[in-house]
Amino acid sequence: MYDYDLLVVGSANADLVIGIERRPGVGETVLGSDLAVHPGGKGANQAVAAARLGARTALLARVGDDAYGQLLLDSQRAAGVDTAGVLVGGEPTGVALITVDSSGDNSIVVSPGANRRLMPKDIRAAAGLFRVARVVSAQLEIPLEAVVEVIRNLAPGSRFVFNPSPPRPLLAEILVACDPLIVNEHEAKVILGDTYASVEPEDWARALLAMGPKSVVVTLGSRGALAASSAGVQRIPSVKVKAVDTTGAGDSFTAALAWKLSADATLAEAAAYAARVGAAAVTKRGAQESFPTAQEVAAL
Ligand code: ADP
Repeated sequence: MYDYDLLVVGSANADLVIGIERRPGVGETVLGSDLAVHPGGKGANQAVAAARLGARTALLARVGDDAYGQLLLDSQRAAGVDTAGVLVGGEPTGVALITVDSSGDNSIVVSPGANRRLMPKDIRAAAGLFRVARVVSAQLEIPLEAVVEVIRNLAPGSRFVFNPSPPRPLLAEILVACDPLIVNEHEAKVILGDTYASVEPEDWARALLAMGPKSVVVTLGSRGALAASSAGVQRIPSVKVKAVDTTGAGDSFTAALAWKLSADATLAEAAAYAARVGAAAVTKRGAQESFPTAQEVAAL
């Protein structure tokens, strides 16, 4: 009945990465490493992560009619993502300028470019995709109005998985549609705002649930995750691995969770699988390059 396990609506960026000894001050120039260009952006990452696991995945996004847009389309197709819903043109492809210093800390400047032009009318024009997707996921690197339109276009029986990143206070219309709302600690703090008080993640999960989502997942890095619904809050243990680069862990976790939910796993089952996928992703460098296949997850 469904052509796609997962429809990802979100951003696609070219990540331009330069290694530096130290960050330049105002008016200063420093020399860095050779430039590395990687496909990225939370929407593009989630779609690649899901497809690599074996999910039938489609991406609805906007890229520019330029070389970075082509790079992003190529990486999606190589992973097996259906890119018929990727709109091309209008603005330059989104870019993230990333410097990584000798202690591994990064500084990032994002130019949203075409992502900022993914409009409600683009979402409406893709209504056909919504009708054939079991699960729809979104993030916040696209306009909020586009996310609202996603919710209004969900087909009966489909499920909405939402990672509000980068975080901002959310409309009730969005919150009540989430099943689950997936947040890390930083995102939980921003969304809870003044009601954020306790240091206990279980309390954040309960407070978020009280804001209206059908379910909530809190990711806790190497400490695993929490899965919360009206049935209660459940701890999802992490898988012990040697972490070399946590970039993309959250994106691969969300994609894996969405895929398992499309196959009717319970929230706790889906989160436990997603924790294995997130753990596998942190054992390799990069974002999309680090996402595991289902075989690699099984071997973990
Ligand atoms: P984000 O990247 O959004 O901040 P997290 O860092 O919480 O998300 O990572 C998402 C999930 O990936 C975690 O809930 C956990 O299951 C897994 N994960 C992340 N870092 C590690 C780690 N160092 N060891 C094992 N699992 C990890």
